[in-house]
Amino acid sequence: MENIAVIGAGYVGLVTSACFADLGNKVCCLDIDAERIYNLKQAVMPIYEPGLAEMVQRHVQAARLRFTTDYKDALEDAKFAFIAVGTPEGVDGEADLQYVRQAATSIAKAMKAPLVIVNKSTVPVGTGDWVANIVRDNQPKVIDFSVVSCPEFLREGSALQDFMNPHRTVLGSLDADAADRVAQLHLPLRAPIMVTDLRTAEMIKYASNAFLATRISFINEIASICEDLGADIKEVAVGMGYDPRIGPGFLDAGIGYGGSCFPKDVKALAHMASARGKHPQLLRSVMDINADARMKVLAKLQETLGMDLSGKVIGLLGLAFKPNTDDMRDAPSIDIASALVQSGTEVRAYDPVAIPAAQKLMPEIHYVENAYELASGCDALVVVTEWNEFKQLDLERILGAMRGNVLIDGRNIYTTNELQAQGFIYRGIGRGYDGISETPK
Ligand code: NAD
Repeated sequence: MENIAVIGAGYVGLVTSACFADLGNKVCCLDIDAERIYNLKQAVMPIYEPGLAEMVQRHVQAARLRFTTDYKDALEDAKFAFIAVGTPEGVDGEADLQYVRQAATSIAKAMKAPLVIVNKSTVPVGTGDWVANIVRDNQPKVIDFSVVSCPEFLREGSALQDFMNPHRTVLGSLDADAADRVAQLHLPLRAPIMVTDLRTAEMIKYASNAFLATRISFINEIASICEDLGADIKEVAVGMGYDPRIGPGFLDAGIGYGGSCFPKDVKALAHMASARGKHPQLLRSVMDINADARMKVLAKLQETLGMDLSGKVIGLLGLAFKPNTDDMRDAPSIDIASALVQSGTEVRAYDPVAIPAAQKLMPEIHYVENAYELASGCDALVVVTEWNEFKQLDLERILGAMRGNVLIDGRNIYTTNELQAQGFIYRGIGRGYDGISETPK
């Protein structure tokens, strides 16, 4: 059992806090957002993540987990301080480190005993050394500390599962003893633990995210070619995935990646390269293809409804950047809705959990309470997020409620034959035989 402070009560910080408490540690989770901490103390979660509320509540009741806004309180007995604050996109795609700087400064001022500072935020290579300098410069008196990089690989929507069953734990430090102590905390997770230097650990996170984003843009490029040549990208991906050198993961063609990590991390890596005179042409193509993938929806609507979309009613099935989360950061739905509004359409939307977050970003959209209400009066529906509930809709009822019969499947959750047989004009992504044998409603 260790005493751990977690700085930041967002997706990563809250999950880290709840899971370390679940592993038997005493955890104090701190955030500067007083309202967020007040709500957490009343068991109100600031985010939607399956299983999180129950786990938090259980460990608060067992006095293994508590919340505070006070750094001195959080660090009182802590041997470890995990930094899990946001590192959003800044100017020119560079990662904005203002929150990391504030956290490191506050830790330096509040710490009273030796501390291992563990950075979980995704930060540019070299940030660990920079954090160490900030702490050193801001300590009122000299107290021993070490900085360890421990990048987080969890995915929103399955964050608890991912935290508890990681494929690997990466630790970066020049202090072998500090790295070993952080490794001990992760031993119960029974995953391989790789210890390397700080900069290499920081790069592993960016390289991993950039590689996954590259796979998505790669399959989207192949999907685009499939559309012209009559091949089916879903089958192509299955056939490719059998090869162990390729593997089946991250080969889902669609409207591209979004969310709080891939877009900003690919940009930040490209910025790191450009700032050092490199020409990150692969990363730039990955970003270009992803931007195009989002706009495919508009082209498919124009192909099926006519070039002039003004006056058409379009319903978006899903808003969150992926299922099982309410995270709207850089969600493709934002670009798609904005393009549709600009082309004069009336945009309606339904998402099982992301509507409150979406309303703040897109007040101009009309939100409804379920998929059937959404379908009512629509000329076309667009699958934006592959929520499970959309895979089991009563399609006859949906079609009956619609004014038109166009369905653009941005996540390839349906099969062409099935939808055409129901009477839809169906367009998936990368399905070269779409459009054969269909009739307008
Ligand atoms: P988030 O925006 O959900 O949460 C960040 C929290 O930090 C907010 O609650 C904010 O109030 C708080 N904060 C900001 N400054 C602070 C300070 N000085 N002291 C205390 N709290 C402060 O962010 P997130 O999605 O949890 O991401 C955190 C980091 O983890 C980012 O670097 C991100 O790239 C990385 N990451 C995120 C995910 C993910 O799926 N969200 C996965 C892996 C890694």
